[in-house]
Amino acid sequence: MKRALVCGAGGFIGGHLVKRLKREGFWVRGVDLKFHEHAQTHADDFALGDLRDQDFCRSIVDCHFDEVYQLAADMGGAGYIFTGEHDADIMHNSALINLNMLEACLKRNIKHVFYSSSACMYPEHNQLDPQNPNCAEDSAYPAAPDSEYGWEKLFSERLYLAFNRNYNMHCRVARYHNIFGPEGTWAGGKEKAPAAICRKVAMVNEGDAIEIWGDGSQTRSFLYINECLEGTIRLMRSSSFAGPVNIGSDEMVSINQLVAMVAKISNKQFSVNHIDGPLGVRGRNSDNRLIQQKLGWSPAMPLYDGLIETYGWILAQVMSNSKQQQLETA
Ligand code: NAD
Repeated sequence: MKRALVCGAGGFIGGHLVKRLKREGFWVRGVDLKFHEHAQTHADDFALGDLRDQDFCRSIVDCHFDEVYQLAADMGGAGYIFTGEHDADIMHNSALINLNMLEACLKRNIKHVFYSSSACMYPEHNQLDPQNPNCAEDSAYPAAPDSEYGWEKLFSERLYLAFNRNYNMHCRVARYHNIFGPEGTWAGGKEKAPAAICRKVAMVNEGDAIEIWGDGSQTRSFLYINECLEGTIRLMRSSSFAGPVNIGSDEMVSINQLVAMVAKISNKQFSVNHIDGPLGVRGRNSDNRLIQQKLGWSPAMPLYDGLIETYGWILAQVMSNSKQQQLETA
């Protein structure tokens, strides 16, 4: 039986990845600081611990793994990454995790390690025009990410690829672009735009208003979780292509268009108040030419279809929370 290790298995993408690997017949060990908040883990073994601790990393890599997925990171949505308040923690914590995990894998002669970088490492100056952002993989340098989160991702991408060159490892590096879906963070400040908008729409009373950061004309693309996993596994198992490569959707929409889609799904009438808030770059879209060329595959699922699934799940969370509150106050 093949064995996989998923670091960050208590998180959104890691939780889904564990399920996918179990369906494929792997024995899976999940690792995280915390258990998954929204679902029972499907992992055969789940180690709770801190990957900033080198001894802990060595202890979880205590045998051979055919595939190691390193998804753990100190991260969150715009409200966490772009305010500047968490910069030191983001850089220090995530860099330590990557340094420790690579060392632990090298010591066990584990070759196949996947690393999730982010589109946040692309230079801000190529993403000023919301209608025409450039996120081709080769536009990464000269580097100028707009956040320390992006700088750490860039450093760690280079770290994994350096281990390929110097230690004959087969690490694979993907640049994820805004992944969304059920069982992700949807409240509390670390949630991303699709989840935040679904929550606001699920909670708004008919005829009231929801608040949106910025004028809503900033553009992004959003990739549904199942497509993200498909790309991740295809890249991991590619015989010679290491990346970095974009794993994202190229269906670019403005935030106002995203709100309109969720409004249509919800069947609710409401207005939108545009307020000040952390925004990130003006425009971003995944450029899928390289993934198509190297893996013969690129994501195709329409955004709207993924939003139907995600809105349904978040609405159920909102309703179950409000039922619980009613019971507590009764
Ligand atoms: P997530 O926050 O849901 O999951 C990350 C997990 O890492 C969390 O469960 C967290 O507890 C764990 N973690 C953090 N510090 C740890 C530590 N010191 N020791 C052990 N575990 C620790 O995030 P996600 O959305 O699942 O993202 C997974 C990866 O993909 C991250 O590396 C992220 O930077 C990258 N990424 C995600 C997106 C996206 O849109 N979700 C976009 C680009 C890149």
